[in-house]
Amino acid sequence: MSRAPVEMRLLPDTATVEADGHLSIGGCRIDDLASRFGTPLFVYDEAHLRNRCREAVSSFGTGNVIYATKAFLCKAMARLAHEESLMLDVATGGELYVARAAGVPADRCVMHGNNKSEEELRYAIIERVRHIVIDNFDEIDRVERIVTGGSRVRVQVRVTPGIHADTHEYISTGQDDSKFGFNLANGDASRAIERCRAAKSIDLVGVHFHIGSNVLDADLLGRAAGVMVDFSSSLGLPELTVGGGLGVAHTAGEHAPTMGQWAAVVRTATAGLPPGVEVMVEPGRSIVASAAVTVYRVGSMKNIPNVRDYVAVDGGMSDNLRPMLYDAQYEAFMPARPTAVRDRPVRLVGKHCESGDILIDDAHVPVDLAVGDLLAVPVTGAYGYSMASNYNMVTRPAVIFVADGSVRVVRRRESFADLTLLD
Ligand SMILES: *Cc1c(COP(=O)(O)O)cnc(C)c1O
Repeated sequence: MSRAPVEMRLLPDTATVEADGHLSIGGCRIDDLASRFGTPLFVYDEAHLRNRCREAVSSFGTGNVIYATKAFLCKAMARLAHEESLMLDVATGGELYVARAAGVPADRCVMHGNNKSEEELRYAIIERVRHIVIDNFDEIDRVERIVTGGSRVRVQVRVTPGIHADTHEYISTGQDDSKFGFNLANGDASRAIERCRAAKSIDLVGVHFHIGSNVLDADLLGRAAGVMVDFSSSLGLPELTVGGGLGVAHTAGEHAPTMGQWAAVVRTATAGLPPGVEVMVEPGRSIVASAAVTVYRVGSMKNIPNVRDYVAVDGGMSDNLRPMLYDAQYEAFMPARPTAVRDRPVRLVGKHCESGDILIDDAHVPVDLAVGDLLAVPVTGAYGYSMASNYNMVTRPAVIFVADGSVRVVRRRESFADLTLLD
C-alpha cells in the first residue's frame, strides 16, 4: 500500500481540494456531508456516473450498452442509467421490480440469472423484457411451459467460452467449470441453440457470454470475444452480447483499460461478424465503482507493541464485503487532508464481531490520525452497497448523490425501527 497521498485518479471525477485542504465531491465538502447525513456514508458523484454512461454509449453505440444493475441498484441509479440511454441487466425478480418501480420500461430490461424461478420467468415474460438470457436446459423447459398460445419470447443463449478470467475465482465465470451458461467445448452450447430454434415459443436472437468481473487485461476480453465470434458467425443470429467485466483501479499502482480500449479490442475481435450483427455490452463495475467513496468515522485506535496498530471505523463487512469475500484491496485517506503523506501503517477494521472484519489489512494513514477523524475509502461504488447487510443488526448506511453543490439522498439510512419491520 502506498505511503504517498491518495492518487486523485482514484477519486470521483469532480473531486477537488478546497483552499483549506479539505476534499469536496460534486461541490460538497465531505465534512459537511458527514455531519448532515452521518457515517458510514456512500457518496456518489453524479457527474462521474453520467460521464461513465456517456463514455460507454459513445464507445459501443447507442442501444448497445446494458448496465449490470447488481453492481449498484436503487431507483435513482436505474433512472440515471435509463436517462443516459443504457438498458438494464437484471438477474432476479427483485432487480426487475426495482427497475420497473423506477419507471424503466420493461423493453429496456434484460433478464439474467443461472436459476430463474418459474415465478421470475413469468414476471419477466408478462412484463415483456427486451430479451431473456437463457442459462440452462431446465430454463428452456420452463419457458416452453410458460409461453403458450403462439406468442414468442426473445432470448439469447449464454455460453461459457472456456476462458479463465485472470481475476478472483469467485468472480471468474467463463471457464469450462462454471455454474453459468452452456459449455462450448462439450457441445452443450450447440445443443441449446438447436433446442431454442426448435421451440415454437422461443425467438432466438443471439448468443451471450460474460467471462468474469474486474478483468484488468483488455486482451483477455478480446480473446473471449474472438472465441465467441467463431462460434456465433456460423449461426446467422442478429445479436452477440460480450458481457461486462472491465476492471477498475482500486489502489495506487493498479491500472485498468479505459472503456475506449475495451471497445477497441471488442471491435477488432468482432470485425469478422456478418454485417449488421449488433454487439452488446453489459458493464457494471466500470460504470459505478470509482463514482463513490465511503466515508467512515474513526471510533477507536490501539497499538499492540511489536505487533501492529489497529484503527476501527463505524462500518465494515456490512457495507463492504469484498475484502472478506475475495481479498479485495483498498486504500484509505483523510478527507480533511487528501494531500497528506500516509506514513503510518495500520490495520483498518470494522465494528463487527468477527476478527475477519478487516477493510484494509495493510492501510497507510497520516501519522496524526485520531479518534473522531473521518476516513474515506475510494472506489467503493460497485458491489459495496449492493452486498450490504444488517449483520450485527447494524443499520445500512445512507447513499447520497452529489452534483453541482447539491445533495440528494437516494437511499436513506436505515433506522432501528427498520430492523424489526419483518418480525
Ligand atoms: C456481473 C455481470 C456483468 C457485469 O460485470 P462487471 O464486472 O460489474 O462489469 C455483466 N453481465 C453479466 C451476465 C453479469 O453477471
